[in-house]
Amino acid sequence: MPTKNYKSLLFASDLFSINTYINITKNKLILPFYHTVLKSNKSHLSEIGYYREYNLFKEDILFFTKNYQSIPISKIDFANYNSFHLTFDDGLSEVYSEVAPLLFDNKIHATFFINSDFIDNKNLFYRHKISIILTQLKKSKTDLDKISNYLNVETQQIYSKINSIKDVFLIDAIAEILRIDFSQYLFDFKPYLTTLELKDLMKMGFQIGNHSKNHPNFKNIDIFEQKMQVFDCNLFLKNELNIIDYYFSFPFGDQNIENDFFQSMYSELNILNSFGVSGMKNDGFSKHKHRILMENNELSAIQIIKYEYLYFMCKSFFGKNYIKRN
Ligand SMILES: [Zn+2]
Repeated sequence: MPTKNYKSLLFASDLFSINTYINITKNKLILPFYHTVLKSNKSHLSEIGYYREYNLFKEDILFFTKNYQSIPISKIDFANYNSFHLTFDDGLSEVYSEVAPLLFDNKIHATFFINSDFIDNKNLFYRHKISIILTQLKKSKTDLDKISNYLNVETQQIYSKINSIKDVFLIDAIAEILRIDFSQYLFDFKPYLTTLELKDLMKMGFQIGNHSKNHPNFKNIDIFEQKMQVFDCNLFLKNELNIIDYYFSFPFGDQNIENDFFQSMYSELNILNSFGVSGMKNDGFSKHKHRILMENNELSAIQIIKYEYLYFMCKSFFGKNYIKRN
């Protein structure tokens, strides 16, 4: 959406109260979603912006608990009062050190969606690698020139160019030129949750969910690989954590995913609910839920949520608040 429309809508959204929005839209359940919450910058996240600032997150919690009641993930299909359920993707370590204690003290439920390949800091997600590379390029003009030559791209375009790379081999090649050692980074900074921490989170009452094996974009892989990605992560959840209730959040969202995959997911892969990232939206598959990204650090929770309600109302006017699955 163009920035001008976005700003007008954001401004207009403040005219109504949350209760008015709930009454008009009948959307009593909201599903806010995060990757992680940070007190200070971290190289693997700072350049891609997948985080909420800690103080904003504390304010978010106050807003949610004041207007909605926290419910466990098992109740989201049956919520008939104002309710919310928090989810966090990518299995980042701060959800254990910062988020879980805060939520536990406030009796707030949450689901942490993990990638089985990254747990115990075995591998780095390629988007996190990109953030580490960009952090280094910002610090060193020499490195910037080196990579600009290597990729044959003007230095001004280098950030957007690197940010758009999806080829993991190219990312690793750039890191090698910059002498970035990702294994050392994993060892030094331990960006992801460990199996022991996952067990602790479960003891605290939190749910652990499936976010695929290694976070590919599902629209770029075939249905066989899609199923394997979910199956492998389910297997990890079962073998390591004795989980039998499976929930799945799509890495990079659910755009252009075939109905056949959705159907297999709910039948043979035993997924109880799946989650996308399209904001406030209804879906042809009733088990598939859309979540609201809360990581715009320029905005408060009330601004983000009110905007989503008004945007939902605008979309419903044009019949676009519902994803048909033919
Ligand atoms: Zn993710």
